Amino acid sequence: MNDLIDRRLLDFLLYDWLDAESLTRRPRFAEHLRGTFDSAIEAAATLADHEFATHNRLSDLNEPRFDGVRVQLIPEIKRALDAFVASGFMAAAADAEHGGLQLPVLIEKACFAHFNAANVATAAYAMLTIGNANLLLAHGTRRQIDAFARPELEGRFFGTMCLSEPQAGSSLSDIRTRAIPVGADFEQCALGPRYRLSGTKMWISGGEHEMSDNIVHLVLAKIPEADGALPVGVKAISLFIVPRVLVNDDGSLGERNDIALAGLNHKMGYRGTVNTLLNFGEGKFRPQGGAGAIGYRVGASGQGLAIMFHMMNEARIGVGLGATMLGYAGYRQSLDYARQRPQGRSMGTGGKDATQPQVPIIAHADIRRMLLAQKAYAEGALALNLYCARLMDDEKTAASEEGRRRATLLLDMLTPIAKSWPSQWCLEANNLAIQILGGYGYTRDFPVEQYWRDNRLNMIHEGTHGIQALDLLGRKVVMRNGAGLALLGTTIGATISHALAAQHPDTRRFGVVLMGAVDRIAHASKRLWSLDNPEATLAHATPFLQAFGHVVLAWIWLDLSLAASRSDIADDDAFLHGIRHACRYFFVYELPQVAVWLGPAEAGDATLLDTRDAWL
Ligand SMILES: Cc1cc2nc3c(=O)[nH]c(=O)nc-3n(C[C@H](O)[C@H](O)[C@H](O)COP(=O)(O)OP(=O)(O)OC[C@H]3O[C@@H](n4cnc5c(N)ncnc54)[C@H](O)[C@@H]3O)c2cc1C
Repeated sequence: MNDLIDRRLLDFLLYDWLDAESLTRRPRFAEHLRGTFDSAIEAAATLADHEFATHNRLSDLNEPRFDGVRVQLIPEIKRALDAFVASGFMAAAADAEHGGLQLPVLIEKACFAHFNAANVATAAYAMLTIGNANLLLAHGTRRQIDAFARPELEGRFFGTMCLSEPQAGSSLSDIRTRAIPVGADFEQCALGPRYRLSGTKMWISGGEHEMSDNIVHLVLAKIPEADGALPVGVKAISLFIVPRVLVNDDGSLGERNDIALAGLNHKMGYRGTVNTLLNFGEGKFRPQGGAGAIGYRVGASGQGLAIMFHMMNEARIGVGLGATMLGYAGYRQSLDYARQRPQGRSMGTGGKDATQPQVPIIAHADIRRMLLAQKAYAEGALALNLYCARLMDDEKTAASEEGRRRATLLLDMLTPIAKSWPSQWCLEANNLAIQILGGYGYTRDFPVEQYWRDNRLNMIHEGTHGIQALDLLGRKVVMRNGAGLALLGTTIGATISHALAAQHPDTRRFGVVLMGAVDRIAHASKRLWSLDNPEATLAHATPFLQAFGHVVLAWIWLDLSLAASRSDIADDDAFLHGIRHACRYFFVYELPQVAVWLGPAEAGDATLLDTRDAWL
């Protein structure tokens, strides 16, 4: 099995459903044709298969090591990333002016999905570097872009995001890394206001290695008050570029900055992505004659977290896509296995006939249940992620300002779902894939156990599942007086109208069911916010997130099913029948769970708030 993604599926999503070809009529993409999109996708598929998939297990078995001087990674990781850069993928969506191919984000993500499916840990270095460069392109000065973002897009420098600290993970307002201005003329530095940073950053992916000439750390830190105390709250956080090696005025590399590797974290999965504890400013190196890591502020002081959200939002969609592709890879493995593994016999009216040959396990309804669930989770999540990528294009290039504003609002609303839903349900898909392989799934002879271990991270990093839930219920549904929720409701409403007018009775029925589920979400959020006690409201955040996510995915599946039914489906068109059938599965088996998840919220139940520490 070497097709990382079924090409018919990708073509259906990109061209039949999301009308990717229409993007070529926008000025930004005028140089492209469907043919250039297809060539990029084919190049990604081949590269992912030849250079990424080939060391997925190897890097899992040989996790990064620190020998006291250097971090040792298997050489295949660098070779794959070099090939990725050489093929133009690091700058696939970047402006031509910055050496980019100026592809739509939609096509970039369709390409990137192959790297995730092949080897999510190696792909992570690229994802971080692209996200880091994109933040600088949006918020950096011309000099910062030239000195740091351009070399990243050229693949000479790699990037990280340094937010977390040992005592501050979800609660970034409690970070303690401090940044002190260097000299009275600190504002005059060509690369941006210059500071010395000190503090410890935990969990930094790609934080130390020798695969690139430099590592551009984007670091959140606080600037102390005159008395040396750190100001409180997120509004006191600023953002700094802190390169591993300082960059001279002419772009050449200078001294080693004061950033020391304190240790590596040894993880359950994603092992090929080196994960580090970094000490900034401990004095191991003395750049420009002193201790303290030299950093250049990006944007205004106090705006750091808001600016960092540029990278975080992109990374959340990226994490969702990674989770999706792990789910998809497991689905394809277990499907292949289920078609080949003979076990048991079908139950005829007279019971089983032991004289008959065994059937492949795909003949058992329970195995088909697990395959259908995986298909619904992974292909549905891929559709959602690509829908979000298309919104990223629309927010920059839609013809009208109204269209661009709409895209931004919808993307804001959907980002917690695009991150959390694949992280939860494509992990469940991996769980089901292991189950289908039975005992073999539990061994390291098959990749499904690694997919599960790799995927387990995705509910934790880039804002845990619980934090996504707080973001959705606490911020997104109430932002701008509920404008985002209303826009999502209208968008889903358009699909429902089409469904109600459809020929097929199932489609009409699903339209009615979805309408009821959307009303239920609106009602539950109103009910929760009428409690007049934010703690009581937010106690329901995670079940609300799950219900919301399932409603969004029911909408996606209904819309896909409508796209599949635009013309009569030939009896032997297994692909389109498969799309319609996955939609049916979702409405019959998955959507009813919304009622269970929303039940306590609708009743204003206080079980969680009433729980006392001592009772546990
Ligand atoms: C492999 C890996 C790679 C990572 N890469 C990076 C990276 O590159 N850069 C970076 O900056 N960070 C990175 N992280 C850090 C990651 O983002 C954090 O682990 C995450 O934000 C959670 O922080 P924490 O681990 O301190 O958990 P905590 O914040 O202590 O959370 C523990 C639990 O408490 C819950 N919780 C916390 N606060 C609340 C609340 N207010 N309400 C309800 N529940 C709450 C959480 O949901 C979670 O379940 C990485 C982490 C891992 C494991």
